[in-house]
Amino acid sequence: MLPRMKVTPEPWRMSICPYCGVGCGVEVGVRNGEAVAVRGMTDHPVNRGELCHLGHNLIGVLDTEGRLLHPMVRRPPEAELERTSWDDATTTVADRMTELIGRHGPDTFAMYISASEYIEEYYVYNKFVKGCLGTNNLESSARLCWASGVAGLVQAFGADSPPCAYEDFDHADLFFVAGYNLAESKPVLFQRMMRARAAKGTRMIVVDPRRTATAARADVHLMIRPGTDVALHNAIAQVLIRRELIDEQRARSLVDDFDGFAAHVDRYPPDRAAEITGLSASAIVEAARIVAEAPAGLFLWGQGLNQSSIGTRKVSTLLNLVFLTDNIGKPGAGPMAVTGQTSAMGLREVGALPNLLPGFRTVTDPRDRTTIADLWGVPRDRISARPGRMLPDILAGIDAGSIRALWVIHSNPAATFPDTSWVRSVLSKLELLVVQDCYHPTETSELAHVLLPGAQWAEKGGTMTNSERGLNLVEPAVAPPGEAKPDLEIVMDVAAKMGFGAQFSYRDTEAIFEEYKRATAGRPCDIRGVSYDRLRSDKGIQWPVPNAAHSGTKRRFVDRSFPRGTLTLGAHEHEEPDERVDEEFPLLLITGLVRTQFHSRTRTGKIAAMQRATPAPFVEINPADAAAFEIVDGACITVRSRRGSVLACARVTDAIRRGAVFMPYHFGALAGRDCDVNALTIRAFDEVAKQPEYKACAVRVEAARGQPDQA
Ligand code: SF4
Repeated sequence: MLPRMKVTPEPWRMSICPYCGVGCGVEVGVRNGEAVAVRGMTDHPVNRGELCHLGHNLIGVLDTEGRLLHPMVRRPPEAELERTSWDDATTTVADRMTELIGRHGPDTFAMYISASEYIEEYYVYNKFVKGCLGTNNLESSARLCWASGVAGLVQAFGADSPPCAYEDFDHADLFFVAGYNLAESKPVLFQRMMRARAAKGTRMIVVDPRRTATAARADVHLMIRPGTDVALHNAIAQVLIRRELIDEQRARSLVDDFDGFAAHVDRYPPDRAAEITGLSASAIVEAARIVAEAPAGLFLWGQGLNQSSIGTRKVSTLLNLVFLTDNIGKPGAGPMAVTGQTSAMGLREVGALPNLLPGFRTVTDPRDRTTIADLWGVPRDRISARPGRMLPDILAGIDAGSIRALWVIHSNPAATFPDTSWVRSVLSKLELLVVQDCYHPTETSELAHVLLPGAQWAEKGGTMTNSERGLNLVEPAVAPPGEAKPDLEIVMDVAAKMGFGAQFSYRDTEAIFEEYKRATAGRPCDIRGVSYDRLRSDKGIQWPVPNAAHSGTKRRFVDRSFPRGTLTLGAHEHEEPDERVDEEFPLLLITGLVRTQFHSRTRTGKIAAMQRATPAPFVEINPADAAAFEIVDGACITVRSRRGSVLACARVTDAIRRGAVFMPYHFGALAGRDCDVNALTIRAFDEVAKQPEYKACAVRVEAARGQPDQA
């Protein structure tokens, strides 16, 4: 029997906003089988009924405009996509995968999934790809979003260990916000920060090359030169240590190699850091003093640090400041990373990434492979000891011919990966591209050989973990439209046709959850004390929760027992971005989000209120640069990089540093002629986490002859 959670007759179904990692509780109102309203859940501990612009407009997501309503197959590969039956579509996928894996081995296949899905889905995809097929090529869109942040945490703590709770916003004396526009990306948390500031005068430092809506509310805005955060963090550390602003004995007790680190940051005195960052030395010293004075400081970072070719270094050096100031394991203190996608935490704990297995286990550890193979009921040698490929390496593998089959689930890499012309040419080389999505066309679905209509969010049930480790239940509220199906059913149907039916004989999604719980026993993400029933009453319960009597873990490391015993200070050097400005391309392009759109707009682009708010790409440019390039406010301009060009409307503003321009990253090729912002961006990647660089590519701007032609 296929796993569907029972649909209960109550008119309001509990759910979680499917957009960002804050994980606001929502309820979906249902009448006559139709979703008619979405409201914030007033008793949810995360948002107490509040929602941001995206959450308020959630009901529009369930509209069927642009929905993929039935399976489609392209046969022969160069023909048009044609409607077909479910049986034909899944048999085609199973047969083609069996043939390609039989001929070229399991590593010829890769699956690329979204970081917005459910724990039960991640668990099943993991079991299918790693436990049945025998490849670890299971990758996710979190690579584009939070990979460097996680790598930084792992380097520092020795494990993926988010320590804080949202409640810490209420207790902090300082918010140190690095490369993070919370006012637009996490509005519900930002409002909480502003309430804390009003109530107890919490100080706020924002580091950003733009005067964002967040920076505009700061006590100190460090308008840094793009890409130079490592030098700033090192200089603040140098001031903290050499001006004796910290309790050195306390810091020594927490970290390893304090002396080696102190000698390293001596190479970054404020004067030198000022030259690198474009800030004044006095501003750097002042920031260090504010950091040192705060009894409890929250250090928040976002894509400004992560999406960089030295993203892991940037995060690691920010964490140095947390550890030197003893901001760990106490209320209002610690590093806080709230992911851009709802389930980025869930997919990490379930191990749906190329190097992981459930419960933060690793594929390289023979005991971990044995434990999970036994749980999955597959041969112990089935799980490969070789980590799978990360997204840049999957695309390179397709380009080189070593990967021939790719299954993309609810993701749109042809719009979101940098250098999209190259990405599309690479995806076109695949012998089998399966796209499972709820929308069509997307930039990726257009290239598919087989299209499988999946369900979204309130059309299927499961659990999600938000960025404070809080588990929540999502109840199915409505049936998927047309012939669309819950995604688990689709993957398990293909698995059964490939001969793995015995591994997926689940009664329902709760049975999958119960099996996954066994994988968490004794692990940092132990959730044996959680059940679907408990989640119906206890919302947002934070792991670890090892037994039913346990009330969850608000804050970790209160007892200072760290995974490696001590914390690791990262002694890293500043390095300029891969692509530098020159005479031909004299400006540095930063891409980022706006509050009224989400990712590549497959959802928000179809909601009228969102579309009206941000209908087309724009370019923020400093008045001095605008004058130099004879650009006037409101003019249509061409932004050109070494890889492509885009038309956009100029916004002349001193809210961005001279020498940099900003564009929202939401617009892909389907947004209209010359709207594809990632046609400009560069294939440069973080040295550890392989996260792409979206914050630094060299461009030039010039007056345009035409206007962007929106779809
Ligand atoms: Fe949804 Fe995030 Fe907005 Fe909350 S803050 S309503 S989770 S997008």
